[in-house]
Amino acid sequence: MYTQVIAQAVEQSGATVVIFSNNTDGKAVAPRLSARLRAGLVAGAVALPDTSNGFVVKKSVFSGKAFANVNITTSVKIISLNPNAFKVEEGAGTAEVVELNATVDTPKVKVTAVKKQSGEVPLAEAEIVVSGGRGLKGPENWGILEDLAKELHAGLACSRPVADAHWRPHNEHVGQTGAP
Ligand SMILES: Cc1cc2nc3c(=O)[nH]c(=O)nc-3n(C[C@H](O)[C@H](O)[C@H](O)COP(=O)(O)OP(=O)(O)OC[C@H]3O[C@@H](n4cnc5c(N)ncnc54)[C@H](O)[C@@H]3O)c2cc1C
Repeated sequence: MYTQVIAQAVEQSGATVVIFSNNTDGKAVAPRLSARLRAGLVAGAVALPDTSNGFVVKKSVFSGKAFANVNITTSVKIISLNPNAFKVEEGAGTAEVVELNATVDTPKVKVTAVKKQSGEVPLAEAEIVVSGGRGLKGPENWGILEDLAKELHAGLACSRPVADAHWRPHNEHVGQTGAP
């Protein structure tokens, strides 16, 4: 549904660059929009595009171990920005809110439940992370880490086997295959 509406917004406004945040929503919608509009996508951008020779976007690759500069050559270009890659700065430009006529098909999926993230500090925003692994022996021992995380105002995390064993929720799993 989001993809459908954004695609219509792009077509009606004649937008040539579409920017997402590379968060859960952006990761879900940007590739769909890219396929629908046949528009080049760079996910996980860490710098503003260099337009001196094409439209070159720097992105992190191999779990942040290297960078790639990718040139988008399609007429509509989509980028998703890595969270915290940019500081919030007040710009001099002005923005206009425009009403669009969007049509939406009947949804093919229905949200039946919403699970809130656990932990007081969102993991992606945390400056300090307290993480536990299999050495803690079981979910009943996580109270020690919860207390420590609270004391340090830290995010609470776990290793993959811990999440796979349902000791902790999957949104707390960190590392290459987990949260950034
Ligand atoms: C390509 C690749 C990518 C991966 N990506 C990820 C990833 O993104 N995230 C991730 O979490 N994992 C990832 N893994 C898997 C990862 O290697 C392990 O599964 C993970 O690190 C397990 O960590 P753990 O601390 O839970 O358990 P373990 O590594 O088993 O560590 C448990 C530790 O506790 C100690 N211990 C046990 N009992 C006691 C005790 N009674 N007292 C004191 N110490 C004790 C053990 O000696 C051991 O050192 C990846 C693996 C590969 C190959």
